Amino acid sequence: MTDPRRALPSVHVLLEQDGVRALAERAPRGVVADAVREAVAAARTEPALAPTNEAAWAADIAARLAARERPTLQPVLNATGVVLHTNLGRAPLAAAAIDAIAEVARGFSSLEYDLAAGTRGSRHVHCASLLCELTGAEDAVVVNNCAAALVLALNTLADGRDVIVSRGELVEIGGSFRVPDIMAKSGARLVEVGTTNRTHADDYRRACTPQTAAIVKVHRSNFTLDGFVADVPPREAAALADAAGVPLLHDFGSGLMIDLSPWGLRGEPTARDAVADGASLVVMSGDKLLGGPQAGIILGRTALVEAVRRNPLARALRVDKLTLAALHATLRLYREPERAVRDVPVLAMLTTPADALGARAAHIAMQLAARGVAARTVATEATVGGGAFPSARIASHAVALEGDATRLDQRLRDGALPVVGRIADGALMLDLRAVAPRQDVHLVDAVCEACA
Ligand SMILES: *Cc1c(COP(=O)(O)O)cnc(C)c1O
Repeated sequence: MTDPRRALPSVHVLLEQDGVRALAERAPRGVVADAVREAVAAARTEPALAPTNEAAWAADIAARLAARERPTLQPVLNATGVVLHTNLGRAPLAAAAIDAIAEVARGFSSLEYDLAAGTRGSRHVHCASLLCELTGAEDAVVVNNCAAALVLALNTLADGRDVIVSRGELVEIGGSFRVPDIMAKSGARLVEVGTTNRTHADDYRRACTPQTAAIVKVHRSNFTLDGFVADVPPREAAALADAAGVPLLHDFGSGLMIDLSPWGLRGEPTARDAVADGASLVVMSGDKLLGGPQAGIILGRTALVEAVRRNPLARALRVDKLTLAALHATLRLYREPERAVRDVPVLAMLTTPADALGARAAHIAMQLAARGVAARTVATEATVGGGAFPSARIASHAVALEGDATRLDQRLRDGALPVVGRIADGALMLDLRAVAPRQDVHLVDAVCEACA
């Protein structure tokens, strides 16, 4: 009996074939050789699937090479209907922010250089005044993300001392981020008060001792509590903290900068509200509803923000120049709120009228039909995601593809420009709420490729 493995070409022979040699233009020779070895090894393990001629070997090797060259971090189309999707990188950046990144990335910058004085400067100045102007805070500092901001603020205020927090606010934000764990890592001792559903001002008052360093409020970003509930709103908590002679630290999460109630999104405080409510320090994310880069923003009283900046931990949690450039450019858009709603992609996506999405869905379905792909439009409900407006349902429209939903979903995720949709009622839905209009043409191409 002949062993089919005997018939396999050697790595050396394959490397000399014209089709394979041509690949050397696409990648270094060593990488091509690795792809060839991988192809031969695969053929040895599964002889039945082994290429049977020169062209098939070249195609197999080219595919393996492409997979090796492809970064794991790739752009995707978010057709999930969840606008701020943490797994999909949260906020896409405004064009102005992308330009600012490119400009600063290309060369040197005044990151820590005071151009007026010609001396060493501080990276902490770059977004501070704009943040103060837009939120009414006395001072501000930017760090790596909101979790870092919370740890840094707590460590500054309460290392080795007590912080009081309601049991109704010891929440899980997602992806292994639990507020009590993060708080414990800061060195602060947690003093829990109240119950899951009800916490009263007296609970805080009774818990205050000489060991108390701060009171913490954590915004319920990703769930709502209904029924027999009571809690102490930030303004009242601030007054209470004042009376006890301790600061109030408010983790408000979303970074919402303007009131979205004209678009039906109600009930979330803005950063200005959070500051006006009187917390000594407010922490929030840069890449949720603010629509900027990943960052943690700390707003508050001059002396406390200064203490945060001087904390040695601030050095470990600092942001880089690209983040500062992008954040500054994003914040500038908020000087004209109408402009922010138009130019900050997250806000544009959240405020687009459902009718416009319906028209786009119909147009996409028509283009797909013209290319032989069966699809229909469906009215859907999108969500904000990313820890804000947890119960808001935003009217939206999707293109639903006919056919095996699980298989289509897989094929779309495997494509050159991966598309992430959602399966509902047995169909693959591509929700347009979080797809920018300029991406429609790419969506059509990706679907046609997946259905080919
Ligand atoms: C999202 C969120 C965080 C975590 O923010 P990151 O920027 O992901 O670190 C912390 N607190 C609240 C209330 C949040 O909503």
